Amino acid sequence: MSKIIASAAIRGAHKIVNDADEKWKKAMEKYGANEPVGFPNTAYFLPVIYGMLGIPVEKLGDMEQVLNRCKAILPPPVREKHPLPYLGPTLDAGMATLFAEELAEAIRYLEEPNFYTKTEDIADDNIWLGAADDIILRKRGIEFVDGTAPGFAAILGAAPTIEIAKQIAEELQQKNLYVFMCGEYNGKRFSEQLIEAGVQIGWPTRLVSFGPDTSAAVFAMGFATRAAMSFGGIEPGDFRKILIYNKDRVFAFALPMGYVTDEWYANAAGAINWGFPVIADTPIPEILPTGICTYEHVVSNIPHDELVAKAVEVRGLKVTVADVPVPVAFGAAFEGERVRGEDIYLECGGGRTQMVEWVTSKPMDEVEDGHVEVIGKNIRDIEPGSRLPMAICVEVAGREMQDDYEPILERQIHHLLNYAQGVMHIGQRDIAWIRIAKQAIEKGFDLSHIGTILHAKLHQDFGRIFDKLQVTIYTDEDKVKEIVETAREVYNVRDARIEGMTDETVDTYYSCTLCQSFAPSHVCTISPERTGLCGSYNWMDCKASYEINPTGPNQPVEKGEVIDPVLGQWKGVNDFIYQASRGKIDHYNFYSIMNDPMTTCGCCECIAAVLPLCNGIMTVSREYTGETPCGMKFTTLAGTIGGGLSTPGFVGHGKYNTTQRKFISGDGGLLRMVWMPKSLKEEIGDRVNTRAEEMGVSNFLDMIADETVGVTEEEILPFLEEKGHPALTMESILG
Ligand code: SF4
Ligand code: ZN
Repeated sequence: MSKIIASAAIRGAHKIVNDADEKWKKAMEKYGANEPVGFPNTAYFLPVIYGMLGIPVEKLGDMEQVLNRCKAILPPPVREKHPLPYLGPTLDAGMATLFAEELAEAIRYLEEPNFYTKTEDIADDNIWLGAADDIILRKRGIEFVDGTAPGFAAILGAAPTIEIAKQIAEELQQKNLYVFMCGEYNGKRFSEQLIEAGVQIGWPTRLVSFGPDTSAAVFAMGFATRAAMSFGGIEPGDFRKILIYNKDRVFAFALPMGYVTDEWYANAAGAINWGFPVIADTPIPEILPTGICTYEHVVSNIPHDELVAKAVEVRGLKVTVADVPVPVAFGAAFEGERVRGEDIYLECGGGRTQMVEWVTSKPMDEVEDGHVEVIGKNIRDIEPGSRLPMAICVEVAGREMQDDYEPILERQIHHLLNYAQGVMHIGQRDIAWIRIAKQAIEKGFDLSHIGTILHAKLHQDFGRIFDKLQVTIYTDEDKVKEIVETAREVYNVRDARIEGMTDETVDTYYSCTLCQSFAPSHVCTISPERTGLCGSYNWMDCKASYEINPTGPNQPVEKGEVIDPVLGQWKGVNDFIYQASRGKIDHYNFYSIMNDPMTTCGCCECIAAVLPLCNGIMTVSREYTGETPCGMKFTTLAGTIGGGLSTPGFVGHGKYNTTQRKFISGDGGLLRMVWMPKSLKEEIGDRVNTRAEEMGVSNFLDMIADETVGVTEEEILPFLEEKGHPALTMESILG
């Protein structure tokens, strides 16, 4: 340990502990010892203190013993002559620093409750997120455990230019690392630089703006400490195990950018306790011999374009970056990114043009592996802000390939295209929707890269079930129409495979958690009579998906004990969703819109809503963009209820599900339907009539109002009365 670092870290620690002590004394005078303190929504109190010392700080008065511990372990300043060995005392100084910072931040939460947003996303007027609550910890921390995210980079300070900030952030994102940002250098902050560079920050893009001050570094350490307690099952106070868990399991490192102050040294000394090394861009003294960290402790003076590579090497991180040869960055970190307004270069689908995506299998000799073709206009033929129709046709061949696998490959298109930076994808089948950002086009992205991505990634993830894959992208209106027609026939055949099976005849349902990146608490449970709300996955598809990928997003769910046969609730399902939603949702009903309906994500083909005046329900499909009798358009409905929550009175569902026998059977079933858009009536009308006939009502379709009758409850009620709609004489839907 260098003497310079040791002296600086110890000086910094003294200052930080003294500051915290003063803040605490003032707070005690103002609020008294019994004032509750803590970080929001967490069971881990002040997590570094709780993890290391086992002390649950709940009240201001509890802080005293922590401050005493800080003072006890704080080493005296390094003597100029005859200095003692430094490593141990410096590490202790680092610990005291983090304890003191955690106290200071907790006092800030007390004094300025709105200083941090306490959310996953930044707000318009506040970019500082503050400590991650337990929901964020469960959702994000699990990625550290399952390897989706290998770890994090804690950035202090600011880059010399916003371009360098952006480049470093992207490089870290591409390695799937989280970036935890805090502190200030030269009046600038890394988070602010990213915003200035037009980069989206927040938990969804893994660029986490913890806070403006250096002390916010303690939120990163708290996150790591809680991960060890929560996922490693380590007891609070068992500091040794927590530190070793982090050293071995969490690939984290600190990147101080700019002049390293005493306070930064003190924090760095703290991080080294966790095995997190420091890689600096300035010429600070290095600590090369290894000991606590896997390799070196402090490496300095690294040029900016080598910083990330050096950090990865020093931390001993093995990164498997998929080689997807596209000109934009590609990886799970970009999945949550949105493309909006002025940023849009090209938009296809979303109700404005037709868009369809379709995977089909072919004989071996009809597929040329890796062949990608764009037929019709490509990027160079259009102006920024354009719209085009689009069909993405993926043809696969292979000895192991079966028709049953087509829907599974097809459903991957959604997240795979979202992995590309500057590409946003929503929906599926014939209601797919894509936006490509100007920034992606500037880097050279064109439509053929959609094919490149699908070829590379589907091979990588599903290479076991097919040998060859080719992609054709059509943007020509007539051709797209033709493919929509063909694909719709195939969708019908796929949907009908489930016909005749009932929920009672199987013991196992399947889960789908593919949509959790957008709707974190959302879990679809798919039974024979309740197809996934996106319409792309039915029970058969999930079963096949589980067979090819036993650890994937479709897991078998044992129904277990029946809790409510009418509303459709099972103990096994409840247990599963509690765990899969990370504690957010503990039960839901399969067959009800009124009583705790299933959760809804943004992919739903249709959204049903209760219409109290008509004693019934309406449903609206994504392609209908007009007003509806519930007072909201599809997009507003999706924005309101599509975040993964269960919202009584509203439920997302697949088109096909509308005519499945269990469709809201707990509330009276299909005969409650009083309004649908005309296009949907045309599309599923025959099946609606057949199903209603079974329920004893002939020509039911004619009794259902649409936009030509009206778009308010008042407008459609006389029509329903005139037709003698069965819902009007059913018992009150409000119960
Ligand atoms: Fe899976 Fe449901 Fe998302 Fe469809 S909507 S992909 S079934 S989670
Ligand atoms: Zn979804």
